[in-house]
Amino acid sequence: MERRIDLHTHSTASDGTDSPAQVVEKASRASLAAVALTDHDTIAGLAEAREAANDLGVELIAGCEISTRADYGSMHVLGLWLPENSSELKGFLAKMRGIREERNRKMVDKLRKLGFDISMEELMAEADGAVGRPHLAKLMEKKGYATLHEAFTKYLGSKGGLAYVPKEAMRPEEAVRLLSRFGATVSLAHPLLRDLPRDWLASQVAALVPCGLDALEAWHSKQDESQSEWLVNLARANGLGISGGSDYHGSVKPDIQLGRIGPGKYVPIDVLNNLKKTRKQKGLPC
Ligand code: AMP
Ligand code: ZN
Ligand code: FE
Ligand code: FE
Repeated sequence: MERRIDLHTHSTASDGTDSPAQVVEKASRASLAAVALTDHDTIAGLAEAREAANDLGVELIAGCEISTRADYGSMHVLGLWLPENSSELKGFLAKMRGIREERNRKMVDKLRKLGFDISMEELMAEADGAVGRPHLAKLMEKKGYATLHEAFTKYLGSKGGLAYVPKEAMRPEEAVRLLSRFGATVSLAHPLLRDLPRDWLASQVAALVPCGLDALEAWHSKQDESQSEWLVNLARANGLGISGGSDYHGSVKPDIQLGRIGPGKYVPIDVLNNLKKTRKQKGLPC
C-alpha cells in the first residue's frame, strides 16, 4: 500500500472535537505516515500532539490555519512547518484570538438581546483555545435553543444571521508574508471550497506568489476531481507546489474522515516529499 498523509486537521485547540493526541492516534490507526495539525489561529495543540507523535512514530508537521479577508470573501491560509516555540508567533496568534474574543462577545450580546441565556463564560468553556462560531452553535444546541444547522442559518451565518458579526481579518497577502517570514511552507487552503470566481482566484494566486506563497491545497475533502485538476494546473502555472488534507474536525463534521479526501481517496506521501524537497532547496528545516 502506498503510504498516505493528511496535511489539514483540527483538534480541540480550535474547533475540532478530538484532542491533539487523539488526532495523532487516529492518524496512526489509519496508517498515515504523517499528519499536520492545523488549528485555527493557534499552535497550542502542538506540544501534546508532538508527544503522541513521538510515542507512535507518526511524523507530525506543525501547522495552523489563518482566515483572511480578500475582495471576494474569505480565504484560508495554511502554514506548515511552523516554529513550535517562537514567542513572536505565539504572540501574534494570541492577538488573533483576542480579535475572536471581541467578536464572540458581540455575538453573545446580540444573542442575549434576542432573549437567549448565554454567557461568555459558558462559551469560553466550550474550547481549549481558539473559540468561534462553531462553539457558539454547539452551545445553542446544548441549551435547546436551536439545532446546529439553525444556529448558523438563523443566527450566526453571514447571510442575514440575526446575531452575525463580521470578523476583523487581515488580508491574504499579510498572512502569507507573515507565515513565510516564520519559515513556514505556506499553502492556500481549499481554494475552491467557496466557489470564488476562477479568473479572480487565478489572479489572486499570482499576486500571492511574490508574498511567499508556496503551494495550493489541490486535494481536500470538499473539492472534487475536476476542481483538483484545475488547481494542480494553476499551481504548475505559478511554479507552486501542492498540498492536500482532509480538513478533519472530528464529530462536528462527521462526513470528513481523517486521512480521506473522498471515498477511497487519499493524499499520497509524494505530496509531502515534494514539499520537503522544496524546503531543502531553500535551506529550510523539515
Ligand atoms: P469562525 O472562525 O468563528 O467565523 O467560524 C468559522 C467556522 O464555522 C468554519 O470554519 C466552519 O467550520 C463553521 N461554519 C461556518 N458556516 C457554517 C454553517 N453554515 N454550518 C456549519 N458550520 C459552519
Ligand atoms: Zn475549523
Ligand atoms: Fe478552512
Ligand atoms: Fe480547516
